[in-house]
Amino acid sequence: MRVLRVTCPACGEVCEVQLDEETLAAARSSPTGLAGVADFHGDHILVLYIDADGRDRGVRVYRALQRWEVIRVNPSFLSYMSEIRGFRVSAGSVVECFQDSPRAFIKVVGKGVELEAALRSFEHASHAVAWMEEFLEGLRRGAGDADLGTLLLSILVLDSCLPLKPLWGAARAFEAALRSRRLVIRVDEAAAELFRLYAERITWLYAGALDAVLRMDGWRLIDALVARDAITVRERLFSILALERRGVVRLEVVA
Ligand SMILES: [Zn+2]
Repeated sequence: MRVLRVTCPACGEVCEVQLDEETLAAARSSPTGLAGVADFHGDHILVLYIDADGRDRGVRVYRALQRWEVIRVNPSFLSYMSEIRGFRVSAGSVVECFQDSPRAFIKVVGKGVELEAALRSFEHASHAVAWMEEFLEGLRRGAGDADLGTLLLSILVLDSCLPLKPLWGAARAFEAALRSRRLVIRVDEAAAELFRLYAERITWLYAGALDAVLRMDGWRLIDALVARDAITVRERLFSILALERRGVVRLEVVA
């Protein structure tokens, strides 16, 4: 199998893309004759365009890629995840990421949105369906403001949630992650002072989370979340939303 190697013009990272049959078939069937393979770089995405003969037809860096038909994500992205070993998301556009052709999928379908995931084991399969339904509900609400980067970020969060017991209201977390480029964190200083008084007793809020979030006043949510370690992303997101529920933090929608 051939491997294309390109250097990202934005961050200098060297990205390797294996030219598999699925990618070439995607290029053949696409109206442009090109298939895009996306490589996740945290706050940006590198897309490598490949034609049906497997030739490199250029790269582009995107902060927010919002319109595409079918995009294949470089399977190296799967190495950031512990539970998901392949996925396909459809919400008008299709995003898929597979290393091979997995046989066993879990599939959930909502209004106009669909998520299929192949898991590394069936250990967490019973939780997975509930989490995936929360994810789809978040996607249904946030799809209009989502882009490829925030979609992949929210898949990382989903992956890190699968071993946990399903959480009521988690759709809000996925919605916020998907819209994170358009949400700005606003901290209510008075509420924050009050909250500090009893925060030490709240053990679920991991050490340092409160101070970290309170320093994020004025940040875009995406900048607070960007990390390639899924558990870190999830902890930050859930801390911010816990403070939102307590009126300490507000997420303001901006253009
Ligand atoms: Zn890069």
